[in-house]
Amino acid sequence: MDRINVTRSSMPPFEEYCEEIRSIWESRWLTNMGEKHEALTQALREKLEVPGISLFTNGHLALEATLRALDLRGEVITTPFTFASTTHAIARCGLKPVFCDVREGDYTIDPAKIEALITRDTCAILPVHVYGNICDDAAIEAVARAHGLKVIYDAAHAFGERVNGVSVARLGDASMFSFHATKVFHTIEGGAVAYRDEALTTPLQMQKNYGITSPETVEVCGGNSKMSEFQAAMGLCNLRHLDEELAKRFRADARYRERLSGVPGVRLNPIQPGVERNCAYFPVLFDGYKWTRDEVFERLLAHGIRARKYFYPATNAFDCYDADPRKTPVALHLSQCVLCLPMYAGLAQDEVDEICDVLLG
Ligand SMILES: *Cc1c(COP(=O)(O)O)cnc(C)c1O
Repeated sequence: MDRINVTRSSMPPFEEYCEEIRSIWESRWLTNMGEKHEALTQALREKLEVPGISLFTNGHLALEATLRALDLRGEVITTPFTFASTTHAIARCGLKPVFCDVREGDYTIDPAKIEALITRDTCAILPVHVYGNICDDAAIEAVARAHGLKVIYDAAHAFGERVNGVSVARLGDASMFSFHATKVFHTIEGGAVAYRDEALTTPLQMQKNYGITSPETVEVCGGNSKMSEFQAAMGLCNLRHLDEELAKRFRADARYRERLSGVPGVRLNPIQPGVERNCAYFPVLFDGYKWTRDEVFERLLAHGIRARKYFYPATNAFDCYDADPRKTPVALHLSQCVLCLPMYAGLAQDEVDEICDVLLG
């Protein structure tokens, strides 16, 4: 049994959640866009400062719904240095993922390498704000505009972040957020799409509720990916405590940086200028360190500390894709030397010290 896990879900006080769900018992309205769903939609629209927001039962289905709602066909340029969900969403929607390498500095898609991958069949770019590192949106937008491509961000790691004062949710044509239990803000399972064009409202709605537009009209072959009232209630509670939870993450992040900065062969996640971070993860690159990433992982495990090889393997090395990871050498290398150390709101200072003691030997 691990004493310190890589993550631990934030929880509101038990009584607060019970109080939040009392009205669900009274109304017996458990799902299908009820009162809690409406309240959370409104709260998130304000929090993320976006014109359009649509809630889903998880982030993955939110991403699939977005790709379908935009009626995309052909090839989507994306990054292999991400969670399975990003690449699977593209493939499961009948689109072809085309893998672009990432930048050495912040692990996000390299805009300079996008253009060479564009063909007649390219319809969109799907970058990832990996570990909350914000993509170079200006450069990505410029390529997209020049070629008439849509930009859909996987913003699963970037909830609540801002870049030069602007909410990250306002970038691109649409951004997917995940509210999975392990994320900075969660609804147990859950997710959302933030978007700027009102015209996406109905297509997204149809994707999550069987294409039903009125009791006797079904316009498209949509699926079911609605967020329930219980999920939305958890979100309303967690949103009230978000700032305290973030402050605790920042304290753990600061302690890690104090202990690990300047250690030869150990590289910490960059702090991007102008970005208000959320400290969602604490990824470390062991590159030329006295121990390999796998050795550090095993040493921590032997002390009851569970880190995570996140992301390893890169998605273009998955058995289910016919791709060659050597074509994205930066992503391949990162996947071999990255390790996410434990990071969550309740991680104590002395636990961070213990983790650092083990990995510094
Ligand atoms: C968590 C995550 C997802 C999927 O979100 P779910 O809510 O778990 O479906 C997609 N992309 C990235 C990068 C993620 O971390």
